[in-house]
Amino acid sequence: MPSSSTAVRPAYRPYAVTVSSVTRLSPHFTRIVLTGEDLEWFGTGRLDQRIKVVLPLEHGYADFGQEDGAGDWYDRWRALPSAERNPFRTYTVRRIDPAARELTVDFVVHHDAGPAGSWADAASIGDQLIVVGPDERSPHSRSGIDWHPGSARRFLLAGDETAAPAICAIVESLDPRCEADVFIEVPTAADALPIAAGSATRVTWLPREDAPHGETLIAAVSGWSQQHDELLTRAAAPRPQALEEIDVDRELLWDSPGDGDGEFYAWMAGEAATIKALRRHLVSGCGVDRKRVAFMGYWRNGQAERTE
Ligand SMILES: Cc1cc2nc3c(=O)[nH]c(=O)nc-3n(C[C@H](O)[C@H](O)[C@H](O)COP(=O)(O)OP(=O)(O)OC[C@H]3O[C@@H](n4cnc5c(N)ncnc54)[C@H](O)[C@@H]3O)c2cc1C
Repeated sequence: MPSSSTAVRPAYRPYAVTVSSVTRLSPHFTRIVLTGEDLEWFGTGRLDQRIKVVLPLEHGYADFGQEDGAGDWYDRWRALPSAERNPFRTYTVRRIDPAARELTVDFVVHHDAGPAGSWADAASIGDQLIVVGPDERSPHSRSGIDWHPGSARRFLLAGDETAAPAICAIVESLDPRCEADVFIEVPTAADALPIAAGSATRVTWLPREDAPHGETLIAAVSGWSQQHDELLTRAAAPRPQALEEIDVDRELLWDSPGDGDGEFYAWMAGEAATIKALRRHLVSGCGVDRKRVAFMGYWRNGQAERTE
């Protein structure tokens, strides 16, 4: 049995933070900068690193280990009486600056918002929050990253507004010699955000306006695939692949294969039914090797995020 002093530090831990700025980036994006002393230890993996934003209740916060930065926060949270459990939702690190003790998160403000969207819409400087995020001192601090391109140099990234923070962070990290096509569906034309992309990266913001969610994104990816037949043929699976049917209303739509070999890699995230259609198109329709396609249902239309 390892002694507690040699035990491996858990990947994630809670951080107590305070809102230090709120910026309305566009009609549907609000950027919130959070500050806190412990952010000195916050993981610097970025890319699409996920975090949990734990929202205050009327009584504030129940004790789930935030005082001592406990890695078993989730077990402690689950052990609380249900009325005392603070709700939490999943978000992405948009920027982390441990030296300045600052964490930036871009929130989509949406209709019919649950606890996280409503909190972000009303947030003001000085508000307290708890974020469960990676611990740089842990060997597993990058475990919440699903971008695993391996040896690929040719990328397709597609997502809706909830994936925009992750896509922007990934694009900003790309080797400028890599070629990428990026499609991001957003509610309106005014929601297109500045993005620092290399010269071989083509970013297309797709305003949804009155179209149904996902329709514009699916059409764009489908048009792109017709123009990239040769690339997709080279990325095809060696054998026919069976694609299991996932009921997105009941099951989590999530598959992020590990780093592997291959020229091409696709990353897709957003509303689950849309991502399911994109995955079917690329894998079943175009025959792309599923080991080269990461797809993640970030949220489900008409359903709150499940936390248990
Ligand atoms: C790994 C990961 C990373 C994510 N990163 C981000 C991020 O950086 N920024 C971000 O804004 N979101 C991000 N999301 C999505 C976010 O977690 C969901 O949108 C979440 O449901 C919002 O919580 P809520 O409390 O507002 O709504 P919930 O209580 O979860 O849901 C309430 C209702 O709102 C609907 N709903 C939820 N999100 C949306 C939406 N965007 N548009 C329209 N209706 C919606 C639900 O279908 C439900 O009917 C991420 C999700 C995952 C899994």
